[in-house]
Amino acid sequence: MELLSAFLSSILSPLILSRARRKLILGIAFGMAFALIFLATGSAQSTAAQAGQNRGRQNDAPKASASADSGELEVVRVQGNVSLLAGAGGNITVQTGNDGILLVDTGSATMKEKVAEALKRLSKGQVTYIVNTDDRSDHIGGNELFAETGHALAIGRAAQASVMIVAFDTILDRMSAPTGKATAVPEKAWPNDPYSSPVKTLYFNGEAVEIDHQPGTTDGNSIIVFRHSDVISTGDIFDITQYPIIDLKNGGSLQAVIEALNRLKVMAIPGDHQEGGTLIVPGHGRICDEADLALYLQMVTIVRDRLQDMIKKGMTLEQIKAARPTEDFDPIYGKTKGDWTTEMFIDAAYKSLTSKPEAHAGGVSER
Ligand SMILES: [Zn+2]
Repeated sequence: MELLSAFLSSILSPLILSRARRKLILGIAFGMAFALIFLATGSAQSTAAQAGQNRGRQNDAPKASASADSGELEVVRVQGNVSLLAGAGGNITVQTGNDGILLVDTGSATMKEKVAEALKRLSKGQVTYIVNTDDRSDHIGGNELFAETGHALAIGRAAQASVMIVAFDTILDRMSAPTGKATAVPEKAWPNDPYSSPVKTLYFNGEAVEIDHQPGTTDGNSIIVFRHSDVISTGDIFDITQYPIIDLKNGGSLQAVIEALNRLKVMAIPGDHQEGGTLIVPGHGRICDEADLALYLQMVTIVRDRLQDMIKKGMTLEQIKAARPTEDFDPIYGKTKGDWTTEMFIDAAYKSLTSKPEAHAGGVSER
């Protein structure tokens, strides 16, 4: 519409118009108005088609884990200095340049040799930094190998220099003193550069890298922002292959996941026509943009609202499960097997919504 009025004023204002000329201009104006309406309807339709496509694409997302089964890694350039290495468990975000390699997460231990091979194809440099988004085994499995084979930053205290492994404090606590049946993580794999402030920053490969503490699936998730490349690596807070993990034992909550997704939505800036712009590497699955994030956030929010309504009506967990509050999303995000099934999600979401807020206070106390 702005275009149309600019066009009209440009031809109208300098002229004193004859009748015939007015008629002509009116004709043009009507023609343009129709064209605009046509375009608007067309683009509304294509937006709907786009949303459908996105859903379709989200449906295809387990591709990365499928390729993990076949043992094949996928290396995809994201943008700027950043690439995605998929198929080794959790997604591995790789930033490369003259200073070396920075990894966000290191995949599963069983895939570490293949990851090392794939990295050689991406860069001649060596791993200097590792940032862990959480402490799940499919995100930290290569820590030990890359801590041993990587290249420490040449800084003053070179004698103790080692590959820097960055993670939020509580992640180190759990890796160094695992509880329950979790397997012990070797000391070499522990974060040796933990942080406890809301933000930690690095400058590496000519790029400012921001590591934000953001509780979500646990109390210790990190979001990594590559400012020059305009890429955000989210870890499991945003996982298009399934419903969000809510690790209650380790301070996660449904509300924290929603807050985290809302924060990510503000951080990710869409490009022209809602395509491109900031690109997002989720914890699992394909490369996403702001529109994909918005769709996922909408799904999680809708499910939260449904659960809250059912809880308000006094329904028990069993009754809620029987009512299938995720039914329409299950074809995309639902799982009946594996380590995070739909049933586990509903259980954890229910407990998260019915527990007192104090239960999670420990997780965010440093703020
Ligand atoms: Zn994961």
